[in-house]
This record gives sequence, structure tokens and C-alpha cells, in this order.
Amino acid sequence: MSANNGETELQAAERRIRDIPRCGAARLASLEGSYRAILEAIGEDPQREGLLKTPGRAARALEFLTIGYRQSLDDIVNDAIFHSEASEIVLVKDIELYSMCEHHMLPFIGKAHVAYIPNGKVIGLSKVARIVDMFARRLQIQENLTMQIADALMAALQPRGVGVVIEAKHLCMMARGVEKQNSVMTSSCLLGSFKEDARTRSEFLSLLS
Ligand SMILES: [Zn+2]
Repeated sequence: MSANNGETELQAAERRIRDIPRCGAARLASLEGSYRAILEAIGEDPQREGLLKTPGRAARALEFLTIGYRQSLDDIVNDAIFHSEASEIVLVKDIELYSMCEHHMLPFIGKAHVAYIPNGKVIGLSKVARIVDMFARRLQIQENLTMQIADALMAALQPRGVGVVIEAKHLCMMARGVEKQNSVMTSSCLLGSFKEDARTRSEFLSLLS
């Protein structure tokens, strides 16, 4: 990990893209060939000027959108867990979320709200967002994504409880078929005290509203 000192936001973004776990040349070439075949299958000409570099670009975009398959909770959490006596709800709200539905391979986009009650350990706030990203950058359904984030925090911190709420718009709903432009899907997963204790649950939900 390089130091962040003196790095502009743009440089930091470039570094994050440079440092992504790559999928390897063979897979990238296979993706590129597949995208060329898709272009042909929809009746396009992959040789026309505007599309010449599209299979390569699309392959690298999909490589990025599926980084989560090449990341693990250990990599992300590594040395960012700290001892703490805190015993109130820790909430990270409005974490931007970009994922892809496993039914149509179309994006779903929204926000995740992640809360936990520490039991001796806390985690760096940016790591919570990275855990969300790790699971979001795989083919997903929103319900499973919500549970996986909650389970990961449980595994990493053994907190008293975890609450995860995701609100997202699904392109497969918005752009095709039913064309429900404004429907937002909300999913939640409550574990430990968030599930068992009504007061904790209502405090969490009131922090979200
Ligand atoms: Zn879908």
C-alpha cells in the first residue's frame, strides 16, 4: 500500500484503478472475443470505426465491475480493526453502491447503510465501504448482497449486532420490460441485537429516516 500523503483525489482514483486485482491476460482476451461476438450477434459491425476498440474497453470495464471475485474479506480488513470500548450504534450511511444483477447482467445502483454495535472491536470506516464494494462487484441479487455484507461484518468484528439496509434502482426494471422508472427496491438484514432487541432496531431505523 502506498502512502496517501500529497496525493490528489484524481491521483488516488488513478492509483485505485491501477492497483485493482487483474483477471489476467487470457481471461481478458476471452472477454474481448466474447464482446466481439455479442456485437455481431446484435447485428453490428465490429469493424466499423466507432466499435473497433469497444470489445477491449468493454472487457476491461467488466473486469473492473467484477473485481469482487478476486478480493477477500481478509485482504480488505487486514490491519484496520481496532480495540474500542464503544457500545453504541456505529452507522455508515449512504455508501454508494454499484452492482450488477445476476439475472440480466445489468447494473443496479443505490445506497447501502451499514450499522453495527461494537463488542470490543471497531473497523476503519472506509473499510466498511470497501466490504460493500467487494460484494457489490460480483453478479448479485440485492437480497444476497445485503446478507453477505452483514455476515462479513459479523465475521470480521463479532459485534453485538449488525444492520444493513440497501436501497437500489435496477436497470433491468427501469430500461426494459416493465419500465418502472422510479421503483426503488429496499432490502434489509438484521443480525444479533438488531434482530432481537426492538429498541436497537427502532434506533437504527430512525437514524436512517
Ligand atoms: Zn435483473
